[in-house]
Amino acid sequence: MAILKCSDVTMSYESVNVFEHLSFKLERGDYLCILGENGSGKSTLIKGLLGLLKTSAGKIEYSDGLVKSEIGYLPQQSPVQRDFPASVYEVVLSGTLNRKSLSPFYSKREKKKADDNLERLSIKHLKNSCYRDLSGGQQQRVLLARALCATKSLLLLDEPVTGLDPVVSAEFYELINNINKKDNITIIMVSHDVKQSIECATHILHLENKTCFFGTVDDYKKSSISNQFINIR
Ligand code: ADP
Repeated sequence: MAILKCSDVTMSYESVNVFEHLSFKLERGDYLCILGENGSGKSTLIKGLLGLLKTSAGKIEYSDGLVKSEIGYLPQQSPVQRDFPASVYEVVLSGTLNRKSLSPFYSKREKKKADDNLERLSIKHLKNSCYRDLSGGQQQRVLLARALCATKSLLLLDEPVTGLDPVVSAEFYELINNINKKDNITIIMVSHDVKQSIECATHILHLENKTCFFGTVDDYKKSSISNQFINIR
């Protein structure tokens, strides 16, 4: 059963279409990389998937037990966000706030979830550190632990290795691969790294000039859109 289905989706700002007639579906455990030049609509699509922006036409549907509030989201970081004055534990715990309860207190279960995800990403020793004092790579692990607190089935990552050095980027991609393969969590990642996308993803969505390619990595490698894109990089 598809976990996510986009059917004939058009998205626009004030009647100017960013992309048109986008259709694709993902099964549980798929790994999708979204590629495309700046301005091609990647962030707009992410907003649509999160329900922050309405589609102008078509439908975005989730199934297989997933609801929009249970998507784990790792947004692009601005310099101001990197300076956030909270402890690592507070940041990770806040990932559980998509729960239905309005209680201002975290339950034992939520605290355990935060602890488990700190452990899983090897950052338990940073639990009481201030988030803004961490390196870029450590901050991304904290945000990933936070996103994992929000979901059991779908992670959405917006250019997660921007600003990280190649070694730390490779470690981060390895973490994502493990989460995808071992925990069967579906991954949707906006990326500028075509090589990594081809190596790690099962599917590629490439946005360009209001048109879109969606297919398996093998189909993408054979497509004209990928040849042009890879050659100019
Ligand atoms: P990408 O993430 O691929 O760089 P975006 O989704 O940010 O692309 O932008 C796609 C197009 O939509 C661009 O032409 C951009 O200028 C336009 N756009 C983005 N956000 C807004 C907005 N809030 N209002 C109007 N136009 C926007």
